[in-house]
Amino acid sequence: MRHLPLLIFAALLVVGPSVLPEFTVTLLNYIGLYAIVAVGLVLLTGVGGLTSFGQAAFVGLGAYTSAWLTTAHGFSPWTTLLIGLAVTGCVAFCLGFITLRMEGHFLPLGTIAWGISLYFLFGNLDFLGGHTGITGIPTVFFFGWELRSGRDFYYLIWVVVLLVMLAINNLLDSRVGRSIRALKGGVVMAEAMGINTPHAKIVIFLIAALLASVSGWLYAHLQRFVNPTPFALTQGIEYLFMAVVGGIGHVWGAVLGAGLITLLKQWLQDWLPQVLGQSGNFEMIVFGIAMVLILQRARDGLWPLMLKLLPTRHEKHVVPHAEILPKRPLTVMNSLLLEAQGVTKRFGGLVANNRLSLTVKAGEVMALIGPNGAGKSTMFNCISGVSPASEGEIRFLGERIDHLPSRDIARRGMSRTFQHVRLLGQMTVLENVAIGAHLRGKQGVIPAALRLDRAEEKRLLAEAARQIERVGLGEHMFDAAGSLALGKQRIVEIARALCSDPYLLLLDEPAAGLRYREKQDLAELLGKLRSEGMGILLVEHDMDFVMGLADRVVVMEFGEKISEGLPEEVQHDPKVLEAYLGGVE
Ligand code: ADP
Ligand code: MG
Repeated sequence: MRHLPLLIFAALLVVGPSVLPEFTVTLLNYIGLYAIVAVGLVLLTGVGGLTSFGQAAFVGLGAYTSAWLTTAHGFSPWTTLLIGLAVTGCVAFCLGFITLRMEGHFLPLGTIAWGISLYFLFGNLDFLGGHTGITGIPTVFFFGWELRSGRDFYYLIWVVVLLVMLAINNLLDSRVGRSIRALKGGVVMAEAMGINTPHAKIVIFLIAALLASVSGWLYAHLQRFVNPTPFALTQGIEYLFMAVVGGIGHVWGAVLGAGLITLLKQWLQDWLPQVLGQSGNFEMIVFGIAMVLILQRARDGLWPLMLKLLPTRHEKHVVPHAEILPKRPLTVMNSLLLEAQGVTKRFGGLVANNRLSLTVKAGEVMALIGPNGAGKSTMFNCISGVSPASEGEIRFLGERIDHLPSRDIARRGMSRTFQHVRLLGQMTVLENVAIGAHLRGKQGVIPAALRLDRAEEKRLLAEAARQIERVGLGEHMFDAAGSLALGKQRIVEIARALCSDPYLLLLDEPAAGLRYREKQDLAELLGKLRSEGMGILLVEHDMDFVMGLADRVVVMEFGEKISEGLPEEVQHDPKVLEAYLGGVE
């Protein structure tokens, strides 16, 4: 039942060429070719948050490589498909390596820049036929069947489209997929969960480029001639329109967007001159206005609106169960986990942490308290590698970590939550928490796309489910994380941190926004984790909560440590009373 709409769509596709006129089949071919490129953009831009205007150039690379090698050197098209993918892969890797480090508007501008250069490269190389291009590109044989006409080619194109859709859908629903989706939640959170974000960005950039290259290859052998025009920047922009109008966050939105824009342009081209009584490129003007209207009316694109028309399906949520993932070897109770010495952090002239030292042992709750702006979160960021200390030494399990990126620190068994919650609001609680288990799996892109990762995936999700139950959020497992109250979202972050099986847990104001009963539950959970040997470094404002729970307390003010000791000692320290408690009580 679930796949009924898909089956109907596939059935329509199969009978299409035998009943439709030649012209419509040609349109459908183009829609398929565009959809292959647009789905790459869904992955890159919609899911990963990296905007590219330059995809048409990759289509051109695939098309020109095959066109030139088959005509000038007599290669078979199937060989040149692979060579085209290799060429595109190399070029994309180099371009991605340079441009993906850029932030904000520099990345889109970068893609425009190489989009333009590659276009002019195609047009100016003599052996590629300059602006006239290359003709006489051979047909493709598929198991002895020559794909001569558009009707023959139709099946090849749409089989590729469907396989690509399937593979990308599979990919997104996996460990790698979660790491790609985590990119949108900001690099800081992803890295703190152990995700290598530059790697994840290059991966989606390569996938999108390779899909464009396949589309270019198909195009070259369908048309049997190429020139630079279809690989210009304007086409690159149009691909982005297709993805955005269809629904940039949705894989099927790519097909919808490609279909809509192709049909709309065709329709405008046919009708406008008749209506206006003169010819000209009026369709582009109306097309532009239509795009603006659609984007303004339906910001998430048209696919979510389509879904509303389809009968709602009630998916049965089954709590995943599987054997337990391997755990880290236990630490010795009371052994030193974390030792920070003389940590200084400067933001320009502001000294947010001044020669701070603290330690955390296995099986203890260490609380870091102090008024707002004292520098507690800054200290957390230094320890977890989110924003490295300016000076000082930080050791974790005896090893210096103060110059390691946060993903390497996470790998060593430290995990954290954020004061300003960093969850992916649209994803379920289960998926969010499973991001925390990233380092406990290893299956990559290809196993995920081919669904060969299911055994591991089941174990990762089961681990996430176990941690969600453990923090008492079992009833919310399949809710969108963003729909929970803020206090509960903090607890989701704790479950996510626990999912990495850490030795040391850093919690930044976990009880903020919780009700009295929920605070008690949280204290009980933290007490239990401590008894299991976990070290907990806790930043908290609620004094009762800290005093009832912490084994030791460090008090900060203006970036400096002003007191340290047992909760009852600290509570009676005159300096503390004056600086902090004095103001509260
Ligand atoms: P706390 O968590 O104790 O409330 P913070 O560590 O967030 O305090 O902030 C300590 C001080 O450092 C504040 O004055 C804050 O404005 C400053 N600060 C924190 N992060 C940055 C930053 N990224 N750039 C500049 N100043 C910062
Ligand atoms: Mg803070």
